[in-house]
Amino acid sequence: METPEDIPLEELGRRVSAARAATEARGETFYQGASRVHLAAFPPRERWDDWVELSSRAWPAREERHYMLVPTTCFNCESACGLLAYVDRQTGQVRKFEGNPEHPGSRGRNCAKGPATINQVTDPDRILYPMKRSGPRGSGRWERVSWDEALDALAARIRAAITQNRRNEIMVHLGRPGEDGYTERVLASWGVDGHNSHTNVCSSGGRTGFQFWMGIDRPSPDHAHAKVIYLISAHLESGHYFNPHAQRITQARANGAKVIVLDTRLSNTATHADYWLSPQPGSEAAINLAIANHLIQTRGYDRDFVRRWWNWAEYLTACHPDVPVTFEAFEEILAGLYADFTFGFAAAESGIDASVLAEVASVVAGAGSRFACHSWRSAAAGNLGGWQVSRTLFLISALLGAVATEGGTFPNAWNKFVPRPIHVPPHPGVWQELSWPLEYPLAQNEMSFLLPHFLKDGRGKLDTYFIRVYNPVWTNPDGLSWMEVLCDEDKVGCFVALTPTWSESAWFADYVLPMGHGSERHDTHSYEQYDGQWVGFRQPVLRAARTRLGEPVTDTRQVNPGEVWEENEFWTELSWRIDPDGSLGIRQYHESRAHPGSKLTVDEYYGWMFANSVPGLPERAAAEGLSPLEWMRRYGAFEITRGQGAQHEQEVPAAELADLHVSPAGRVYTSAGPAPSANIVPAGAPAPDEAGRRAAGVMVDGVVRRGFPTPSGRLEFWSSTLAAWGWPEHALPGYIRSHVHPSRLAADQVVLLSTFRLPTQIHTRSANAKWLDELAHTNPVWIHPADAARFGIGRTGDLVRVETEIGHFVAKAWITEGIRPGVIACSHHMGRWRLDAGPRGAGGMMATVGLRQGDDSWRMERRAPAGPYSSADPDSRRIWWNDTGVHQNLTFSVHPDPISGMHCWHQAVRVGPAAPGDRHGDIAVDTGRAHEVYRQWLRRARPAGQVSPDGTRRPRWLMRPLKPAAEAFVIPAAGPGT
Ligand code: SF4
Repeated sequence: METPEDIPLEELGRRVSAARAATEARGETFYQGASRVHLAAFPPRERWDDWVELSSRAWPAREERHYMLVPTTCFNCESACGLLAYVDRQTGQVRKFEGNPEHPGSRGRNCAKGPATINQVTDPDRILYPMKRSGPRGSGRWERVSWDEALDALAARIRAAITQNRRNEIMVHLGRPGEDGYTERVLASWGVDGHNSHTNVCSSGGRTGFQFWMGIDRPSPDHAHAKVIYLISAHLESGHYFNPHAQRITQARANGAKVIVLDTRLSNTATHADYWLSPQPGSEAAINLAIANHLIQTRGYDRDFVRRWWNWAEYLTACHPDVPVTFEAFEEILAGLYADFTFGFAAAESGIDASVLAEVASVVAGAGSRFACHSWRSAAAGNLGGWQVSRTLFLISALLGAVATEGGTFPNAWNKFVPRPIHVPPHPGVWQELSWPLEYPLAQNEMSFLLPHFLKDGRGKLDTYFIRVYNPVWTNPDGLSWMEVLCDEDKVGCFVALTPTWSESAWFADYVLPMGHGSERHDTHSYEQYDGQWVGFRQPVLRAARTRLGEPVTDTRQVNPGEVWEENEFWTELSWRIDPDGSLGIRQYHESRAHPGSKLTVDEYYGWMFANSVPGLPERAAAEGLSPLEWMRRYGAFEITRGQGAQHEQEVPAAELADLHVSPAGRVYTSAGPAPSANIVPAGAPAPDEAGRRAAGVMVDGVVRRGFPTPSGRLEFWSSTLAAWGWPEHALPGYIRSHVHPSRLAADQVVLLSTFRLPTQIHTRSANAKWLDELAHTNPVWIHPADAARFGIGRTGDLVRVETEIGHFVAKAWITEGIRPGVIACSHHMGRWRLDAGPRGAGGMMATVGLRQGDDSWRMERRAPAGPYSSADPDSRRIWWNDTGVHQNLTFSVHPDPISGMHCWHQAVRVGPAAPGDRHGDIAVDTGRAHEVYRQWLRRARPAGQVSPDGTRRPRWLMRPLKPAAEAFVIPAAGPGT
């Protein structure tokens, strides 16, 4: 039978016109389509209560389906794009997810992973009920328990830890947070410094470079208006905020913008670039500095911007006391500082022709203040000193004056909005040494990936350890060391996995508690995706639909499948059970304000937030006769402002400047109360002066302006913090040779680039989305033909053995010119596994493996590949692939950068044909050797006990997701690691 897909579009149009003419000739009304809206347009919001589409399955019969469209937010990466759930009014179930055109960040568009949310919701392998382990850890034996049983058991443990002053034995470890501050608020209410994150295996390197410049750790490029876009990573396909950014980069390209991409691998992004530079991994900062040097030597920089906004005077005073503190003297010194970073030098480091670098530099110079840039994971996450990649990148922006300009790059806090919650507990009075050890006083985030080694070293233990959207055994380097400590009940007393799906880590948990996907839970979030501020609302869509129909829902479990819950209600319930009578002071932060003595509901929590701390939303909602919560439940996102502009230039009103004090460096302090600010994004908080006055601004040409939240109030070309905390040699933007610099490689070693994402997968979360699995399910090793010949690897598909410093893995080769010679690459998104006895997990993506241990060495062997299986979803019988790649991260040891704390992912490896008996997916690891490598890297650190200038653990002004009280910053008399 002919289907519409068989008919050319022109022919289809001709037939429709003919049908219309024939129908009207008969005096009948032509059927104009179910919703009478052009199919290329989004459903208009007026019709979201009853949107009509024809059933595709009933075609050619015109069977109408009626939907209520309910917004929520995608949870499949950090971009938080808007989704619209199509809730079938007849069945009451979600039929599909498409884009939410009312969302200001994503503007109705999604990548493949957004609509695939429906796969996750209907996943036949998902966890529907609370489970408790019934055999030894890792035995795969479980029994179903009630939520009450699980909650009571956990509450009793946590209450005991708190009352027995073992607060540091409670930890909640987050992968993708997907919300702004909810978990931190819960932990603060318990008085626990127990927040742990995945950030030091993700973006800390990138953040650190921006933080030392701006006091704010993320860039917010205004891609849409840029003349030149400079990307270090694959931003168009999988980089940070990639769908919202990609559509704006595409917009800029259509307007003539040039795109420069630094990526050793030929990514999809690189194929769209005007200039693709494939540098030797770790040389990116040298390229940035050569471009900066070109701007300096040619006087191609914005002199007035540099004069007004860089802390050059502070730098001269501290580092060149013998020269006059004048801008001209600084310019003279600046001209010498980077003179060695010639195109020739950068060419030698990077392997890219000097003439190409010179051409790129002239393109950059032509951008002026319309230079948008971004660097996030990629090189900053791969290399020792990778944080200097983003610090040197921002040097280019700062030279061009392209900071908070149209088409330039903003500090993210100006394009992000975090509403104040109904209750704000005080900062906890304790310090978690397992996450924030003294060796890493400047670490951007928790030293999460060192946790197994700290536990093995006896630095502490955990009584109750939660993971949430996090799979530490799989995600981190050295996952078998994680497995060893998670199986040791003396080190981790109770291990709780809050998760929608089974994972390599959940299999070792004591409790596995089912949590909702993006359409089954509440969160708020806001991200820097253009020059504006918005707040998005993730919500359980069936709860919102039923509420709209007048059916009250009081607990999200009433609408979710099985007994799947959401964390917000879970944390409230758990907090009440920890402190049932309120005597611990915890319950007060989880109580209703409207009905004192009763539990805070999610409706009151978000209703209060939207009514009281999102400017403009109450008025907008009232105009439509809705409460702010009703408005957000109906449309899903609210744009607060657009065109934030250069906030650092704002003059501080005299009324905010009582008892004014100006430091020699121009920092302005005041004893007036807190600055009025609608935006409470946690940025760096500059320290008060000796008299306790707060930093209010900075004196620029005799005017007090808001400035930046750095110690100096200016952009910090020279970091007084790095200088004072033991790293004066890296206080300026500079170049640190990577641990995989060619000079550090043996003759037979190459660099393994292991950090890249696949566009249609997202870490471990998407393995339960069948559409995505069909699109991408394996991770061959990219090898250049010249290297393949050198290593004796004949063809694509041949097995190769890749040897790291602690073991090896066996994978398939992909011989391609898309990678530079001397470098191999393998995506970290693949190689999912399950143990023989364990639950199925993600049926289409997990191979069944056997694990054998001998002393410190482990071997993993594949027992059965993924393949078709029977389930409630008939598609699971149609799985046609069985190659699901290899779990390379298991074979990596930890590499903590001594400054940023970032794990430096790149590996120096040896590659060769597989050995006799090797099979695809095989892994060998020596965890004893892994512990030795950890100790080697630990020796690079400069502990706070040796370098702290004031006896504290960490500069107070640096960010921390959950900041303890001031007294907890003081180093105890004889603390560990001193
Ligand atoms: S970019 Fe894709 S995965 Fe990420 S939030 Fe948007 S739709 Fe979801």
